[in-house]
Amino acid sequence: MRIGLYGGTFDPVHLGHIHAALAVKHDLQLDHVHMVLSARPGHRDQPNTANTHRWKMLKLACDEHSALVADDTELQRPGCSYAIDTLRHFRARYPRSQLCWIMGMDSYLTLPTWRNWQTLVEFAHLIVVQRPGQPTAVDQQLASFQHRLQAESLDTSRAGSIVFLPIPMLDISATQVRCLAQSGESPEALLSASVWTYINRNHLYLTKEGSFESQ
Ligand code: ATP
Repeated sequence: MRIGLYGGTFDPVHLGHIHAALAVKHDLQLDHVHMVLSARPGHRDQPNTANTHRWKMLKLACDEHSALVADDTELQRPGCSYAIDTLRHFRARYPRSQLCWIMGMDSYLTLPTWRNWQTLVEFAHLIVVQRPGQPTAVDQQLASFQHRLQAESLDTSRAGSIVFLPIPMLDISATQVRCLAQSGESPEALLSASVWTYINRNHLYLTKEGSFESQ
């Protein structure tokens, strides 16, 4: 099996995420993609929106696609949500499968700030997609790491390569969705209909602070 893992704060999940997951699944012929909600990210600011809301929106969006699995692995685990712990979990669950950790270029550029970042490739391949308008320049440390591991395509090994997929992505971010909503404009076109309905019903993203509930 070849399994995709796509982590994010998903605050909220938008069509850019869904498109990326489905496009990579198609391109690499993945069996399915786990959309892993980062409950308490270790390498970026905590999202303002409660985990319960972010999780419900992720579930709604994934339920519309049989290939996407909303995954609560990091919600179930106490403490910071480190990708390395999630990858260990998936490796134990799928000992013989190829694991593909999908990330946007912006996320990849922050890799050296992640816990045990050089060890991630022992558990999975890293699949990087370019987001429109995002920077691409890697620093020296990441460049030399990448130089050793970059591959044109996936071979049959379970992990260990960095693959840059030149497939088109949508120019959408969660920041853009939140900003539109806060300014009274509709981000409806950037979201699944079910997620937009959920946002309205729960009055999310009306203020900069978001909606704090039980985390
Ligand atoms: P924010 O604007 O709050 O930072 P975001 O839109 O970047 O959010 P995240 O949940 O932080 O979304 O991102 C999860 C993963 O999805 C990251 O690897 C990120 O690079 C990737 N990603 C986000 N938006 C897109 C997009 N439009 N196309 C491809 N990948 C994306």
